[in-house]
Amino acid sequence: MKLSLPARFAKPSGDVNNSPSNLIMRGQNNSDAMSQTHHAPSIVYWLGEKLCLNITNRCSNNCYFCFKKYKDGIDQFNLKLVNEPTVADLVSQIAVQIHKAQWREIVFCGFGEPLTRLDTVLEVTKQVKLMSATPIRIDTNGQAYLTNKDRNVVEELKEAGVDKISVSLNAHNKETYNLACKPSFENAFDKVLEFIGKASACFDTEITTVTIPEVNISDIEELARSLGVKFRLRQYEQFFW
Ligand code: SF4
Repeated sequence: MKLSLPARFAKPSGDVNNSPSNLIMRGQNNSDAMSQTHHAPSIVYWLGEKLCLNITNRCSNNCYFCFKKYKDGIDQFNLKLVNEPTVADLVSQIAVQIHKAQWREIVFCGFGEPLTRLDTVLEVTKQVKLMSATPIRIDTNGQAYLTNKDRNVVEELKEAGVDKISVSLNAHNKETYNLACKPSFENAFDKVLEFIGKASACFDTEITTVTIPEVNISDIEELARSLGVKFRLRQYEQFFW
């Protein structure tokens, strides 16, 4: 059966050298880390030069193309959590891996929306900043003001030490967003745009979109321009299971 594909794990469009496998081959001193195999759920894993944190499987979207609907993980890593990790679990595992390679970034990116656990993101970020100057990025669906009511999300992330924000948008308007991403919140698309606007004032911020058929790429590029943020296209990959 022909099914669809990875969102946040899609390859960057037009940059074959940044594919996970190529980055792993190029990464310095990654062989030590890569020599391990993991069948138990991974809360810390790596994709090329990125050290990634899988802190939750919960998400306020239900995208039809979400990778976790079709796969248990990526590469040798199982990302289906049995329990959500504590701050102490995360920090201790990061401490083991952080000096094993020259990581380009530390990224909150797993099989769920990291900002559903805002306090965990804040505390882990603060503790990682004490260990390393490696930039910290959050890959998010941008609904943090809906899932964390009455919080100053962007300001709190900035204060903790987050460096970059990458927002998966995957739609050029509300109708397409509701169709493709099936958010729990009725006004999700507008709140994502609000989040992007606030994030852009504090962070190196980008919008990413996978090339699913429903999306009008040039409209999203225009949206990114109007919000003053970068735009990155990620290749939609169809494959057979
Ligand atoms: S936003 Fe949520 S449902 Fe959509 S692809 Fe990302 S993790 Fe999956």
